[in-house]
Amino acid sequence: MATITELEIVETPQIAAQWARIRGRLQHEVGEVEYRTWLRQMTLAGVDGDEVTVHLPTRFLRDWVRSRYGDRLSALWHAEVPTVRRVEIRVGGAMGPIGPLAESLAQTAEPPPVEPPTALFAASRNEDRAEPRPDLTAALDPRFTFDGFVVGKPNEFAYACARRVAELPSSAGFNPLFLYGGVGLGKTHLMHAIAWEMASRQAGEQRRPVSVAYMSAEKFMYRFIAAIRSQSTMEFKETLRSVDVLMIDDLQFLIGKDNTQEEFFHTFNALVDAGRQIVVSADKSPSDLSGLEDRLRTRLGCGMVADLHATTFELRISILEAKAARAGIPVPSKVMEFLAHKITSNVRELEGALNRLVAHANLFGRPITLESAQEVLHDILKAHDRRVTIEEIQRKVAEHYNIRLTDMSSARRARAVARPRQVAMYLAKQLTSRSLPEIGRKFGNRDHTTVMHAVSRIGELMQCDSSFAEDVELLRRMLES
Ligand code: ADP
Ligand code: MG
Repeated sequence: MATITELEIVETPQIAAQWARIRGRLQHEVGEVEYRTWLRQMTLAGVDGDEVTVHLPTRFLRDWVRSRYGDRLSALWHAEVPTVRRVEIRVGGAMGPIGPLAESLAQTAEPPPVEPPTALFAASRNEDRAEPRPDLTAALDPRFTFDGFVVGKPNEFAYACARRVAELPSSAGFNPLFLYGGVGLGKTHLMHAIAWEMASRQAGEQRRPVSVAYMSAEKFMYRFIAAIRSQSTMEFKETLRSVDVLMIDDLQFLIGKDNTQEEFFHTFNALVDAGRQIVVSADKSPSDLSGLEDRLRTRLGCGMVADLHATTFELRISILEAKAARAGIPVPSKVMEFLAHKITSNVRELEGALNRLVAHANLFGRPITLESAQEVLHDILKAHDRRVTIEEIQRKVAEHYNIRLTDMSSARRARAVARPRQVAMYLAKQLTSRSLPEIGRKFGNRDHTTVMHAVSRIGELMQCDSSFAEDVELLRRMLES
């Protein structure tokens, strides 16, 4: 597809290729084994307006595919053909009624091998001359809208900035918009939401639909390299510089890729100078993205910089409530509290756990209970639930910072030992169910207020120093595994 605003009606001959691409992507995402087990027997039965019908030969397969891959199939279809809003999965195909379309597609039963990202750019330019511009928009997830984003303390600022940019692009102080935060906290979601919002707005108000180019920094690099190879860098630059909004996701990927950084910098400048909006995401703030060229860092920090903080318990509950309501299946609040307590690292995992419960409930027609949740999520929870002892934490942290284990309980207050000690207290609070006084006792009989102070101090430091935050996260992961 071209830009997300070009909502063309697709003609039948194109559908075969689109369906093949969708299956190719799905196969790539789920892996060969899973694809062959569950998805290979899918056939396309028809495309009718905004609805696509896919057939599977048995009820069991239908239910399975519907619950596990239904959303993803819809998203992939929608990304390929924006007019498609729903994918119906029915029993049919090999044993059921064969639609005319399915017959004509019989020869394309096997999905083609997945194209490397470089081919995509070349393909859309050279083979598909009818397209007005190369594909600048990666599949935008239809679920990633502002409506679908749950706002809470940790993300309200980033959300407000994203909304503001979508409503009034290129306004002073908001260009570029730089969103940063840890994995799975909603950066990509907010970027897609901006894209959807802009497309719908401008299309109604202006004659010319707004053109949004959204891609990961990785894709940007692949395309740039492909352009160099095919000696079409001029075209690449011109195309990029003709968009109204350029969004680059996960910019940290460009660290160390000097040529691509250079190209991005020039494109960036050209667009800002021409009054276009730029939105960038990364895992760190511009000033902490060491390895990025200074002048690029400086310019990135010139507009609005907004961070997504780690979720709070309250936000996790709100997110679960919103997602459960969407799934249309009752999830007891006890189960949600349980999940929000157990899965704290990122929203993607939280969502994954809920999806699994919903799929399981749908598949077996049983309600979700605390017991069934514990059973179904057994493996996920085990990873989060492993009992770490305070001694283990002290040992790992001491090792990591190269201090003596005895310093964990010594009275020394030099920063070089006090900070690691605070980190260990922080991790003890996070990873064990020990109370503050209990933790204090294990650290040389310290008072519970000392532990409390350590916990909040480390939390603060993690907020403002992301390399420190990474360090602590790394320790946490090592202790959890
Ligand atoms: P990131 O790009 O920061 O790694 P994503 O934007 O991909 O994270 O988010 C991971 C998943 O969590 C997505 O499915 C997204 O919809 C969901 N998610 C994250 N934050 C929220 C939120 N505040 N409300 C609803 N869903 C969220
Ligand atoms: Mg992302």
